Amino acid sequence: MNIIDNEILDSIERWSMRELRPIARQFDHADEYPEEIVEQMKGLGLFGATIATEYGGLGLSAAIYARLVTIISSVWMAPVGIFNSHLIMASCVQRHGTEAQRQKWLPRFASGEIRGGIGLTEPNAGTDLQSIRSVARREGTHYVINGTKTWITNGVHGSCFGVLVKTDVHAQPRHKGMSMFLCVKGDGFKAAKKFKKLGYKSIDSAELVFDNFHVEAANLIGEVEGQGFQQALSGLELGRINVAARGAGIATAALRDALRYAQERHTFGKPIIQHQAIQLKLADMATRVEASRLLIEQAAKKYDLGERCDLEAGMAKLFASESGVDNSLDALRIFGGYSYSTEFDVERYYRDAPLMCIGEGTNEMQRIIIARQLAERNPI
Ligand SMILES: Cc1cc2nc3c(=O)[nH]c(=O)nc-3n(C[C@H](O)[C@H](O)[C@H](O)COP(=O)(O)OP(=O)(O)OC[C@H]3O[C@@H](n4cnc5c(N)ncnc54)[C@H](O)[C@@H]3O)c2cc1C
Repeated sequence: MNIIDNEILDSIERWSMRELRPIARQFDHADEYPEEIVEQMKGLGLFGATIATEYGGLGLSAAIYARLVTIISSVWMAPVGIFNSHLIMASCVQRHGTEAQRQKWLPRFASGEIRGGIGLTEPNAGTDLQSIRSVARREGTHYVINGTKTWITNGVHGSCFGVLVKTDVHAQPRHKGMSMFLCVKGDGFKAAKKFKKLGYKSIDSAELVFDNFHVEAANLIGEVEGQGFQQALSGLELGRINVAARGAGIATAALRDALRYAQERHTFGKPIIQHQAIQLKLADMATRVEASRLLIEQAAKKYDLGERCDLEAGMAKLFASESGVDNSLDALRIFGGYSYSTEFDVERYYRDAPLMCIGEGTNEMQRIIIARQLAERNPI
């Protein structure tokens, strides 16, 4: 890690404690979008965190970006979604776009002038992405898109999305008929519904509706049909490292709060941290945090070296996200009755953590990916 990376991480830590910590509880409970935080994120360069410096981004490695995500998530996980989904869209353009597309879009993504996310999931298709029904039909210099995307992060407040559709509904295998377009809201493309959620509040998750939406052929990422599924999947290794980092952040927050509370709260004449039952929980929680960190570091290092890391990213995502859930539940137990109070943060960790087990490929799918990789890498 160089001095600049260190400085970035230090300033993100200070910003999280100064700006996010005081407002997280209030904004979460009100389910209110943190407009001011978004403006600050622009100033910090977060909308360009992983975009190459030549296009105006910070050009952070996956390893540093993951640490940054963990730091913010250990204070308040939800705001990470505002720039993380946006960066997945940007990474599709950076990795698969034409040079003209990179030059047109990336600087405006990096500054936060244009913000958005990635639209893959549909009402009938999440894990089984090849079953999507949204279609794009070519008409001269344009395509016409019809369909519905659901659960899309930044759906209301974002204006531009990488949208996966079918350009050939008869293609076999099905993924050969899938393409990804950059779609900017306008006539025929709008957010139809914002979802009310268990956790991950303050950040909008919405349904996006395309009704004869005309998009220029120049917005087809890579300007070649049939690459969309691979483009979406190629973002997932980094996406999984990021989700792992968010899980690790929540696991860290739960440990930090529980460790403090266990030293303050007394029962039977001593702080509860002196009861063995509490010690056992804290030991497990701290071990999960450290193991998550190491798994994330290992996956990110491989990613940064350009090596295949689906096994490592899958393990990091699986373990760190489950650690977020386990640690937040253990924190609830340590806080006893007060864990149910909205005056503490542990109830928020408990509501935010399970999402990490679902996003970027459910943990059921991670286990399948890990097992397949084990077989592939260890043939007899
Ligand atoms: C808050 C939130 C934000 C989101 N943000 C976005 C976003 O920005 N963009 C986007 O495109 N999507 C987004 N999603 C959608 C998310 O990616 C999907 O919910 C996820 O991929 C799972 O798909 P599904 O909900 O359709 O579940 P399903 O695919 O219906 O799966 C249901 C269950 O079956 C299991 N299952 C499915 N197939 C198999 C199999 N072959 N073997 C074993 N088990 C299986 C799954 O693991 C799961 O337990 C978001 C979701 C939420 C809740």
